[in-house]
Amino acid sequence: MIQIPADRLSNLAQAIFQFGGSSEVEANQVAERLIEANLFGHDSHGVGMVPAYMEGIKSGELKPGNDLTIERDHGSFLLVNGNAGFGQIIANRTMKLAIARAQELGVSVVGLKNSYHIGRIGAWGEMCAAAGFVSIHYVNVFSASSLVAPYGGSDSRFTTNPYCTALPARSGAEPIVLDMATSRVAMGKVRVAYNKGEDMMPDALIDSQGHSTIDPGVMYTEPEGALCTMGSHKGYGLALICELLGGGLAGEWTMSDVSKQKDMTVNHMLTFIIEPDIFGGLVGFRREVEGMVDWMRACVPAAGVDKVRLPGEPERESKVERLAAGIPLDDQSWKGICDAARRAGLDEASVPT
Ligand code: NAD
Repeated sequence: MIQIPADRLSNLAQAIFQFGGSSEVEANQVAERLIEANLFGHDSHGVGMVPAYMEGIKSGELKPGNDLTIERDHGSFLLVNGNAGFGQIIANRTMKLAIARAQELGVSVVGLKNSYHIGRIGAWGEMCAAAGFVSIHYVNVFSASSLVAPYGGSDSRFTTNPYCTALPARSGAEPIVLDMATSRVAMGKVRVAYNKGEDMMPDALIDSQGHSTIDPGVMYTEPEGALCTMGSHKGYGLALICELLGGGLAGEWTMSDVSKQKDMTVNHMLTFIIEPDIFGGLVGFRREVEGMVDWMRACVPAAGVDKVRLPGEPERESKVERLAAGIPLDDQSWKGICDAARRAGLDEASVPT
């Protein structure tokens, strides 16, 4: 592992994207969002994505510079097409439109389709919370191959479909941000365990016969195994709802369309944004949120646990630590980024060793 200061890593990612065809502003915004994911502890959605994004540009799946277009606009309802642009740019623009609409009408329901990978969904929930809104996000991932098996199944049928709900806090307090993949673990964690020769925890993987296993190698051998959903049948249900609301209602494709399952890494997202005073109960809502936060914090920690946390809190703790100590990167991820820099055309002196 190496530790790299966030700003240095961000500059490198920005330079690679500029060589890949992005403007300085776009490259900077994408790099900053990836670094934010690393700082928040989600390395699976951080700068480790740079090589995959550069491959996406090369294959034409990801189109730097593309902006969204509005396809439908009916009062509170908006449907936008990301036109295969950088998800970090497209989702940011979509949330700005959605928040503006909710400021005007009290609520907005926004479909985002055909965006390249939009990264950490919590980033979009946090934007809504910072503007004072409650938000709910259902996302599907339309990609070259499926990863996650339905509960009771023996092969993969969809991917790690994330779900997020964010609640605003009163000024100066932290929002509650539940932001999660619906798989038991992210694929990035399986990759790390495999590279290190370590076992996975139980209930995270099945082999190609559907037997539970702790061997991460099942995802790297044929016939392939699959990730399990979190929370057994309940997580499977939520993953399916994300697939159908994100990919079916807001988006264009679900993973059932096998004919399209090549050369694509697309996110579709259905977002609900609600003004918390819409029922006239903002004071009461804030009181209940703060009451529950205090009630959770007062819970005596279980043996071996330092304190009870709120959703979103581990990410903020990670950010404080990593801003001070640097972002840890495993050797494989670091090599992948440096190789991507060389392939993009950075001269050897600009590629860190
Ligand atoms: P995770 O399991 O680390 O955390 C899930 C949620 O649980 C978070 O809200 C976190 O704050 C909360 N949490 C964690 N520990 C807690 C504790 N001790 N007490 C209280 N709350 C706690 O996250 P994950 O499921 O591995 O997801 C990682 C990231 O990957 C997310 O940001 C997600 O949006 C992203 N993702 C994106 C895609 C995509 O296609 N764009 C796909 C899958 C996942």
